[in-house]
Amino acid sequence: MSGFVFSEKPIEMVAGDGARLRGADGTEYLDFGASYACVPVGHGHSRVTDAVTTQLSDLTYVQASYPVAARTALYEQLAELAPGDVDKVWLCNSGTEANEAAMKFARSATGREKIVATKRGFHGRTMGALAMTWKKKYRAPFEPLAGGIEFVDYGDEAGLREAVDDETAAVFLEPVQGEGGIRPAPAGYLRAAREATEEAGAALVFDEVQTGVGRTGLLWASERAGVVPDVLTTAKGIANGLPLGATLCREWIADESGNHGSTFSGGPVVCAAASATLSAIQDENLAANANRVGAYLVQELRNADVDAREVRGLGLMIGVEVKRGANRLLRDLALEHDVLALPAGRTVVRFLPPLTVDREDADEAVAAMEAVT
Ligand SMILES: *Cc1c(COP(=O)(O)O)cnc(C)c1O
Repeated sequence: MSGFVFSEKPIEMVAGDGARLRGADGTEYLDFGASYACVPVGHGHSRVTDAVTTQLSDLTYVQASYPVAARTALYEQLAELAPGDVDKVWLCNSGTEANEAAMKFARSATGREKIVATKRGFHGRTMGALAMTWKKKYRAPFEPLAGGIEFVDYGDEAGLREAVDDETAAVFLEPVQGEGGIRPAPAGYLRAAREATEEAGAALVFDEVQTGVGRTGLLWASERAGVVPDVLTTAKGIANGLPLGATLCREWIADESGNHGSTFSGGPVVCAAASATLSAIQDENLAANANRVGAYLVQELRNADVDAREVRGLGLMIGVEVKRGANRLLRDLALEHDVLALPAGRTVVRFLPPLTVDREDADEAVAAMEAVT
């Protein structure tokens, strides 16, 4: 996945501060990938570090059946921050697990099997979530995967309405497709999905693993469309680099049976990290900053002498569709200009920087893009 740099010239990272990473040879990198959006408040944020170290020394771990203040606080915070009445919280360790839980909850709440997912969609790499992931390369070596999945074209309202029927347990959608090339949902699409699922009695699941926690300029990308799902999954940046996933559900879809579970669900250290991360995002108005700096970055990339077919995205989730392969550009950005970014498919350079970046950081990234294209 990220072998493009490391296979040719290893860069060992030794320290991080804000949007900068330092390599073992002392080189400072501008981190405009944030290791797949996993560091929204920046590397080494003191609020997160303090919360984690305090919790680590007080109580590192206790099983989920004993209440513990850090977990209870995170439950309350997530219920408060989640859209509408999506206030039941299931905690796990990754995005794929959050989606596995959503699949299970939707099937058990509806008693139905069929799940509608989208072409170019990405939901993770375990056998259930992988079955909803479109890319053949990720799937083929591991088949057969979970059954009952039907794929529709992302953004095609009529196709979606046609696919959703009274046998459908759930529709899974990313509000902006991430791995699939940074493709925001067209206007009206999420609302159409809401209408179709409501009519059919199916669950609407928004996979906000990449788009969530302020990335697109609002806390949740789906808020922009004013659509409340039945389930919202999130992970990646939620604990600023510690492994946490969450499946947020409306009451009717939440599984109260105890038939789903996980040993490490909601460990106190990751919960403390997530609470501190979410509080920092709120208190420092980082979603608004993502909106402002993201809009600036898009505008500068469009005006710059960058050899791009298209620049698209929302907030600080930005894709630059380039004319030559993205991997060579990414290697040159890293090795010649000390700027780290990510691919999203073969032809898209993806930026997911910490939400703390400013215009000068954006200028630096744009100058590097001009130099390499
Ligand atoms: C990364 C991602 C996942 C999978 O998350 P993991 O933590 O890698 O399992 C699922 N959905 C989306 C939209 C993602 O971007």
